Amino acid sequence: MQEFIYPHQFHLIKQQLKTIIYAKDSSIDLNVVDAVREMALERIYNELINLTDDQKNTLEPIQHIGDKEEMETCLFSLKKQVIPFPKISQPIVEKAFPKAKKLKAPDIENIDLKETVYLRWYDKGSNKTYMLIPNEEKLVSIQGVLEPTQHKGICSICNGLEEVSLFTSEKKGRIRGTYSKTGNYICKDSEVCNLNISTLEHLYFFIDHLQ
Ligand SMILES: [Zn+2]
Repeated sequence: MQEFIYPHQFHLIKQQLKTIIYAKDSSIDLNVVDAVREMALERIYNELINLTDDQKNTLEPIQHIGDKEEMETCLFSLKKQVIPFPKISQPIVEKAFPKAKKLKAPDIENIDLKETVYLRWYDKGSNKTYMLIPNEEKLVSIQGVLEPTQHKGICSICNGLEEVSLFTSEKKGRIRGTYSKTGNYICKDSEVCNLNISTLEHLYFFIDHLQ
């Protein structure tokens, strides 16, 4: 079967299954547990729509998760159905950032592409942070400067409460050749940020805001 779960959907499934296990572990009221389970499954099935029968069957075990071990086993097998972030090569990076001289493609060997919603990396040469974000079969490229200082705050990309830093990027002004700067607080750690993303709403808002 072809992979059909996007990384953010996989994160949603993971988060919702954890909610069920947490309810089971902390509540003795079975009605409460059932209600939590029902709500969690509804959230998952509202996100994963237009499934084929085969895909529905693959997802079926999530309905009977009883404990943490079962959850881990289920997630392990579901991960095989996750569509990985596209493999990024040097030509793709050069095309995405034509003006960035000598920008190297990120080292994706140590990145779990099945848990990657968007790709972010730091380039020492230019002291800039680069992002590639999939949007409607295309990759949106964003570059800017991520401040080294950090504090606890809400991230503009994943909406999580994390250690965030100010990310300043330039966007083209209405008059040709002019630029204006826009700042957003985003997670310091892009891995943390990616794992938090279970809906693309905030990420798309972030891109719209910068374009
Ligand atoms: Zn984040």
